[in-house]
Amino acid sequence: MAIPFNRPHVIEKEFEYMRDAIERKAICGDGYYTKICHKWFEESLSVEKTLLTHSCTAALEMAAILLDIKPGDEIIMPSYTFVSTANAFVLRGGVPVFVDVNPYTINIDEEQVEKAITEKTKAIVPVHYAGMSCDMDKIIALANKYNIAIIEDAAQGVGSLYKGKPLGTIGVLGAYSFHETKNVISGEGGALLINDSSYVERAEIVREKGTNRSKFFRGEVDKYTWVDVGSSYLPSDLVAAYLYSQLENINKINDKRKYVWNFYNNFFAEYENKGYIRRPVVADYCQHNAHMFFILFNSYDMRYKFISFLKEKGINSVFHYVPLHSSPAGQKYGKTPFAMNVTDKVSDTLVRLPLFYDISDDDLSYIADTIKQFFDDNF
Ligand SMILES: *Cc1c(COP(=O)(O)O)cnc(C)c1O
Repeated sequence: MAIPFNRPHVIEKEFEYMRDAIERKAICGDGYYTKICHKWFEESLSVEKTLLTHSCTAALEMAAILLDIKPGDEIIMPSYTFVSTANAFVLRGGVPVFVDVNPYTINIDEEQVEKAITEKTKAIVPVHYAGMSCDMDKIIALANKYNIAIIEDAAQGVGSLYKGKPLGTIGVLGAYSFHETKNVISGEGGALLINDSSYVERAEIVREKGTNRSKFFRGEVDKYTWVDVGSSYLPSDLVAAYLYSQLENINKINDKRKYVWNFYNNFFAEYENKGYIRRPVVADYCQHNAHMFFILFNSYDMRYKFISFLKEKGINSVFHYVPLHSSPAGQKYGKTPFAMNVTDKVSDTLVRLPLFYDISDDDLSYIADTIKQFFDDNF
């Protein structure tokens, strides 16, 4: 048996659409498939404007440019996140201000957010960990009270809802990832969701190397030229073709993931009752996409034993982030105003289990039997 942590999947028409994109003889950015992906998002999520990017990292970088982040501006975010959440702002001279997470949701601790706000605060970046939404009403209330923008890092949240609203459509800007480790994939890939129409025109420019090329192609100007800062943030249409087949099947993908998630959740109930581990907590405002199934051990040592034991048996389970506040670059570029007790503990004790579209029932029973053996041996 060898069960990886993740395995990228082809769900239906990826090859057909990529072939078609090639036959259309236009595989650069903003081709046929990019346009129908944009339309898919705009219609199915009721979002003002969506722009595909080559990664969620790129979408976050665009967000930092669009907000005009200047050297010294502060951006509040959890320390327990991927490096891109912080890097995007650091590239513009911004200072990430790291705060702790809530021990139940593993999402940003709103009380610390309010305490971390200063005159320099320009944005709050809620990261929807494991595709489970942050408590957005609380974050929106703070953003309104202090006049600060919300940029959602919804990399893991494609298909998740907060009180019925898709993640990524709640802040002024939202960022999605289609990296092969996410739910809906295209190898590398991402999207910027623009929920405030005042950003649309400039977003198109920033994404097209700082030129007004998008306007030119629509016939709105008679030549295109360099008008602003920007970079090349758009994906090839081949990537969009792969993605479109996945978007057409998003319910099928997320339903299968929910089936696996529920399997794990039921399996681990007994061990949570015995106090060996803790399972994820799903808040009542959140309808999630089963992006990730994790458990939390009581100690670093027990987690280490667990990962090693599973590895010996051919099962690849993995821990997650090294908190940004304790990383070398996080210490150099960021600020950490408060204690990080929950983040440090979660980082030491959390483990993620294999969860991917074509994991089989046989795989799942093998994983369950192996874990049962681990608990029998160690508790
Ligand atoms: C995956 C991920 C990213 C980066 O996504 P890419 O598409 O690989 O750039 C950013 N933030 C979070 C929270 C992620 O999980």
